[in-house]
Amino acid sequence: MDEQEFICPHCGERMRKWQAPDDSVWGGETRYVCFYDECPYYVRGWAWMDEHYGSRSSYRHSINPNNGSSAPLPVASADHLKPGIVD
Ligand SMILES: [Zn+2]
Repeated sequence: MDEQEFICPHCGERMRKWQAPDDSVWGGETRYVCFYDECPYYVRGWAWMDEHYGSRSSYRHSINPNNGSSAPLPVASADHLKPGIVD
């Protein structure tokens, strides 16, 4: 199995391979996610979500390795979804 490497365009850190829970909207798919806690995209997300939705949550930059499309991955805390890291 060939391991791919993706670098987060927002912070320059290596993105981690992550397996979505089966019961999530991602339905068990494998994505690459920036889990760097100082990532500006993620840091900004807390303020953005609070401003727009009054929600205490944020999102992390994630990418589908099969087609390269990126999407925000919503998280409710710094450790949320980290158990799904599989690399
Ligand atoms: Zn990042």
